[in-house]
Amino acid sequence: MSAPRVVSVAAASPAQRAGLRVNDELLAVDGRVPRDVIEYRLFVDEADPELEIRRGHEELTVQLRKQAGEVPGIEVSSAVFDRVRTCDNHCEFCFIYQLPKGMRRSLYLKDDDYRLSFLYGNFTTLTRFTELDLERVLTERLSPLFVSIHSTDPELRARMLRNPRGATSLRWLRALLDGGIEVHGQVVVCPGVNDGDALETTLAGLVDEYSDLATVACVPLGVSDYTTEPSMRPHTVAEGAAVIDTVELWQELCLGALGRRLVYAADEYYLLAERPFPEAPAYDGFPQHENGIGMARAFEAAFHGDVSAAHGVQPGFFSWVDGAPAAGYRALRTDGASSPWHDDGTRCEPAPVAILTGEYGAAVLGPLLRDQGPHVRLVPVHNAFFGGNIAVTGLMTGADISRVLRREPVGERYLLPDVCLSEGRFLDGMTVAELPRSVEVVPSDGYSLRLALQGGGANTAAPRPSPPVAVALGAPR
Ligand code: SF4
Repeated sequence: MSAPRVVSVAAASPAQRAGLRVNDELLAVDGRVPRDVIEYRLFVDEADPELEIRRGHEELTVQLRKQAGEVPGIEVSSAVFDRVRTCDNHCEFCFIYQLPKGMRRSLYLKDDDYRLSFLYGNFTTLTRFTELDLERVLTERLSPLFVSIHSTDPELRARMLRNPRGATSLRWLRALLDGGIEVHGQVVVCPGVNDGDALETTLAGLVDEYSDLATVACVPLGVSDYTTEPSMRPHTVAEGAAVIDTVELWQELCLGALGRRLVYAADEYYLLAERPFPEAPAYDGFPQHENGIGMARAFEAAFHGDVSAAHGVQPGFFSWVDGAPAAGYRALRTDGASSPWHDDGTRCEPAPVAILTGEYGAAVLGPLLRDQGPHVRLVPVHNAFFGGNIAVTGLMTGADISRVLRREPVGERYLLPDVCLSEGRFLDGMTVAELPRSVEVVPSDGYSLRLALQGGGANTAAPRPSPPVAVALGAPR
């Protein structure tokens, strides 16, 4: 167990009034040691909690003066204070195994922790879930959760996870649903493994046994050049189209039988098959937006001024918890940008604007920018770093962007979506400052992009930005 450190104290908050400081370590609340930020939040919910803290070599007791339900106003350094539960699977499609060596250590963390599912929307396979975990989830109402399903055929699921417990761990899914927990599922579709008839069987099994799931996302396997699994390959165009056909057929069946679609195909499938995206209402409020389901339509709506569509649905308690670290598993991404305004308040002369984006992002943005005039253009960045079928904007690296930018003229505005940055760094560890042209980092939602194109500045973001096309790296699949 490592005590969380205070990383910020809100002005005029109970914590500040009690004298808490940045770098104080939180040891206990009313004599209880919280295991994670969820417990911390529950413990400090009481009126006037007493905190035990360590400051340097000193241990102190600090009494917060606050009402029950009032937040203390501190942010701590990590979400999990004991140890993040890592996964015991060895999925052949795992993207973490497809990363080159030498990247940041945190990128190699294979977490399979229901708490991170609740806090950040990470997917869990439930292979390490226990009776005690179930009791906690039900008692503390840790809902919604996000579960990797892949197949409802026990033998196939165990084979895909390379873990015998994969055959039985969906019993926890049944228990969670029986306990009234909202659960969103996903199927990573691997061609030749769980597509075709196997996908039909899975969707039939879901409707039969787990129709109380909130949603199920079918997302394509991502293959990088670093895969060592000979059987893992990208979908062909025909295979991608077949997944769409299967999902849309099951949507019809589910609408008839359940009154809702239940299952959705990722945007990547529509891009691969060169088919139009379903209209925005067909995404039923974008509940799996962060998983690449309906991002293009949400982005389009936001770009045309529907600010609510810019928010997507933010999975996880993190969207409101006081205390959870902003930097971490799913950090807010924008950390500042250059301004299109002069210091004296006058606007800079309009300059040509180039939008850096992944190849899939370019396919989404192209039609939206047609009426923007010739000074706005797209600069697609081919992903040579990962290779394979990786074309999403969220996996652009500093090296690839540098290679492209070196060929671009100086003196233009370059807009960079923040989805490819985490704590100011690209996946390959480079920073924006190391790029060969200066760029404006823009929150990755349509509303913010429109403002940036109007010269409104990248910092004037919609309140909760959402990325255009992203893959959550590190989330168990
Ligand atoms: S895909 Fe997820 S569950 Fe499978 S090995 Fe990787 S981290 Fe673990």
